[in-house]
Amino acid sequence: PNESAAFFSISGLAKHFGGIHAVEDLSFALRRGEILGLIGPNGSGKTTTINMVTGALKPDGGRIEVDGTDMAGQPAHLYARRGIARTFQVPRLFRRMTVMENLIVPALSDASERRRTAEERARGVLAFLRLEHLADQYARALSGGQQKLLELGRALMLRPHLLLLDEPFAGVHPRLLDEIVEHIRSLNRDGHTIVLVDHNLDAVRSVVTRVLVMARGRKIADGAVSDVLRNPEVVRAYTGT
Ligand code: ADP
Repeated sequence: PNESAAFFSISGLAKHFGGIHAVEDLSFALRRGEILGLIGPNGSGKTTTINMVTGALKPDGGRIEVDGTDMAGQPAHLYARRGIARTFQVPRLFRRMTVMENLIVPALSDASERRRTAEERARGVLAFLRLEHLADQYARALSGGQQKLLELGRALMLRPHLLLLDEPFAGVHPRLLDEIVEHIRSLNRDGHTIVLVDHNLDAVRSVVTRVLVMARGRKIADGAVSDVLRNPEVVRAYTGT
């Protein structure tokens, strides 16, 4: 057995939409328990990358290795089974269901899950997010920030090893920002490996130490936040040339 194998690594990942190279020759690896900021200007390929590494989009080329197995092109439910979960920038909730139902539905898609166990786990997730008092509210009655929290809760129901958060701070009231940052820190302390996606470097630097920067589908920097900030190519990408 290869003891040094990364728990998650992608290499040469590519996706084209017609003539657009949305992602081109992207490679990086994650160690267990690591938290990585994935940033880049709008249109740089961040969402396409998340879509590929959660099975929502088939890559045109490259490998996605989870614990040493190549999963490129596998369907989303197999990624979920491997403990890879994501949130969406705009929460994808069932608005006419309650908070509790929203949490239970994704867990029940795994047929082995009994409703009672799912409900028990949902109570735990609600307690962690401090949303217990909202369990029986309709999702549509929640504030924008509470919907973001519930979206995070739905991903947590899958008990993920790797959690990909797509712009968890976007559109969140400043009052809730600190709370979301604290949840992310706490999840990472508990051993979750996290990829935090945002176009805004300032938003992620309070949470991560390592940051990977994309521009026009390619990786242009990967390293400690302070080093990356001094990288002229990163500065150029952000000031626009
Ligand atoms: P980001 O998340 O960094 O804003 P995206 O991954 O959404 O970037 O987009 C990368 C590039 O791919 C952009 O040029 C975008 O217009 C293009 N793109 C993304 N999805 C599609 C699609 N389904 N069809 C065509 N072009 C797409």
